[in-house]
Amino acid sequence: MLFRLIWLVVFLILAAASANWLMSKPGQMQFEWLDWRIEIRSSLAVFLLVVLCVLLVFADRLWRRLVTLPGWLGRNIKQRRSAAGHKALTLGLMAVSAGEAGEAKRQATRAQRLLNAPQLTDLLSAQAANLAGDLRAAERYFRSLTKTQDTAFLGHIGLARLAQEKNSPDEALRAARRALSLKPKSVMAAAQVLHLEAALGNWSAAAPALEVMIAAKDHLGSENDTPHACRRQKVALAYLQAKSFFDGVRGERVPGFISEKEAARQLRLALATDPGFWPATVLLGDYYLQSGQRRKAAKAFETGFCALPHALLSDRLKQVWNITEGAFVAKLIKLAGNASHAHTVEAETLAAKAALAAGLEGEARRLLDGIVEVKRDVMTWQLLARIAEIAEDKTAAAAALRAAGGAIRPRGWQCQTCHVMSADWHSHCYSCNGFATLEWQRPDHLTPMGLVGDRTADNL
Ligand SMILES: [Zn+2]
Repeated sequence: MLFRLIWLVVFLILAAASANWLMSKPGQMQFEWLDWRIEIRSSLAVFLLVVLCVLLVFADRLWRRLVTLPGWLGRNIKQRRSAAGHKALTLGLMAVSAGEAGEAKRQATRAQRLLNAPQLTDLLSAQAANLAGDLRAAERYFRSLTKTQDTAFLGHIGLARLAQEKNSPDEALRAARRALSLKPKSVMAAAQVLHLEAALGNWSAAAPALEVMIAAKDHLGSENDTPHACRRQKVALAYLQAKSFFDGVRGERVPGFISEKEAARQLRLALATDPGFWPATVLLGDYYLQSGQRRKAAKAFETGFCALPHALLSDRLKQVWNITEGAFVAKLIKLAGNASHAHTVEAETLAAKAALAAGLEGEARRLLDGIVEVKRDVMTWQLLARIAEIAEDKTAAAAALRAAGGAIRPRGWQCQTCHVMSADWHSHCYSCNGFATLEWQRPDHLTPMGLVGDRTADNL
């Protein structure tokens, strides 16, 4: 403002000075045109010339503004419509996130009327319809997406999700497979295919999808698809493929089922990925035993026992070694010494259990006493109580049982998603239906409500 005022004062001073200078200069100008003759002072002529120039500039500006007025008005209206449309779109999306179906639908209609962006407004309409329970509108939208090359992938992914919501696994699988065929490296599509194939029990068909997920560097899927979960799923798929063969389809030429050689290879693959997955050890060892490969069976059970000691494995070892009770106990104690560091206590407890079963209480006591108290689990204390009972030491037996009540819980199959415990291993969690979520571990984040048929202690 101050700058403008200064400029105006300077301009007036310069104009006055110029006018004064012109007035002080005498002179006349004369024009003759047709029958006209004009005589004026030179200073007045200069003044009139300046006024004429100013008028010309003003007229030019006015003309330009008049010519561009309709376009300017049109642009202004368009901008206002676009702003109102975007506002409706934003409000509609906010209503969707807040779960307000009616408001979302109202804003979607408004956005559709104001904006010329069908992919955006249709998405809002589909979301609003979905929220209001109208799955058909959402399906129409995703189908329209599948028709354009750029959006076809997302369209199929959306259709697969909708089909899952409608509980149509076959339809969902078809859509997910199409999405994966469009983007063969997509983790999102591969995860959908994996979980859908697994839900239908198509283990060998699920395996390639899992490979895509493992090969991907960034895991954008759910928490169930982290690299650790992928490893667990790999073990489960290999084991399940082999199990489907050994469970009764042996020899049958059914598409999707594998050969005996392939079944054994899958079990070895599962154990190479996770040597502690004892159901695979039991299945592989039993297969070797049945096909007369006793030495291979012994090796499989011994490796499995060292990786993760389990009562079933020590039972199998007794069978496969085929030696006297005393020799078996001695050999098992020696093997327990080779168990992985994290599982030494469990291996020694199982060796003590075998010693007790063979009537070698002294040996069992020696082994159990060697385990420090803080590391003793329920089974360790129960065995100590049993030994005290045999020695008719009621006080020591009662103390051991009391200690067992507060000791570390034995391992069981625990779901990594919902933390529910399960007595046996299943491909899918009985509680949350997650695929390959069970892990053999000591109970973690467990509430009493979460225990499903706690037969784990019996298994041990
Ligand atoms: Zn679960």
